Amino acid sequence: MPSLALKAIAFFAIASLQASTVHAKDDEVEVGTQPGASAEEIAAVIQDLGGDLKKPSAVAFSPADVRGWADKAKKAHANLQTEAGQVEISYDIVIQAGHYARKTGRTGGQGKYVIEQDMSAWVGKMLFDNLKARGYEALLVDADHYTKGMKPRIFLALHTDSSTLPCKLGPSIGYDSVSDAKGMHGIALALALTMGVDPTAFMKDSYTKGLESYYAFTDMNPSEFEGVLEMAELTCLKQEEKLLSRAEVLANNLAVAVVFALKEPFQ
Ligand SMILES: [Zn+2]
Repeated sequence: MPSLALKAIAFFAIASLQASTVHAKDDEVEVGTQPGASAEEIAAVIQDLGGDLKKPSAVAFSPADVRGWADKAKKAHANLQTEAGQVEISYDIVIQAGHYARKTGRTGGQGKYVIEQDMSAWVGKMLFDNLKARGYEALLVDADHYTKGMKPRIFLALHTDSSTLPCKLGPSIGYDSVSDAKGMHGIALALALTMGVDPTAFMKDSYTKGLESYYAFTDMNPSEFEGVLEMAELTCLKQEEKLLSRAEVLANNLAVAVVFALKEPFQ
């Protein structure tokens, strides 16, 4: 029978372990999950959208390949052009490159090959270019210098996650209102299939409640939905490599999910 003192030590050990994964960092706070999608909702979005999304298989890649993708991400970061946007313009989507281009304060997480800003800039730019090429009115904004009160149809913020205990977190998504849920289910499916995560499990468990307080939500008035993506845990090398190798597919799949949402307004 453990003594009371031992029980207390065990309790505090578990509590501090949780505190280190339930970390407050960046602009996001991880605290448990929002209720995920129901089995019916998951089945419906897989039926409607699943066939249009690419499902990359695990292929071997070399450290040189990874460095090549990391260079692309760094170049995208170095060359990124963002705009503040205008309240008068009816954007189909406002995409935010997480933490870009902060030099101080909450500058974002760091992996072995890239920093969070490299990934949010690279995927953000590819998603932006993809949607512009399809004829949509897209806007790419940075972390701080965007116009408040814009009314896009969709607002999406791109981030990666960090953990003091590596590989404790996976990709996740979050939003702040039930009206965002349906649109974000399509985004969740795109993220899960790209990252090779079982979509049924992902969509049940990977909605992060802390993300509902994402700071930029209060500045946007989207007519359809808004949400945050944590594309992968950058402090987990395997996830960083996977995200780098699949970033181009991710941007394409996110565009497919956005187009799907825009063609069928969730009203
Ligand atoms: Zn972040």
